[in-house]
Amino acid sequence: MTDAADVAPDLAPDLAPDLALGLAPDHRFRCEGCANLTRFDVVTTERARRFHHLELGGQGTIEEEEILERTVESVTCRWCGRSDAISVLPVENA
Ligand SMILES: [Zn+2]
Repeated sequence: MTDAADVAPDLAPDLAPDLALGLAPDHRFRCEGCANLTRFDVVTTERARRFHHLELGGQGTIEEEEILERTVESVTCRWCGRSDAISVLPVENA
């Protein structure tokens, strides 16, 4: 297990990642500022198709959703607040 105890502030490998890749199931974000792996604010713009299933009264639910396009605008660490130190790593044993 890797956790916040493994802080390596001088380690700043590849800081120009494709942040959108960090949302893929086989990848994850890591804050190189504080080693956070689990808490991020992710701002995206998305284009989506959603199936809205409505009652005649107007209430309803979304029963299907397909993200057609997604751009990650920023990823900010919830622990230290940095958004300039986020890297994208492959998930081990994905
Ligand atoms: Zn951080």
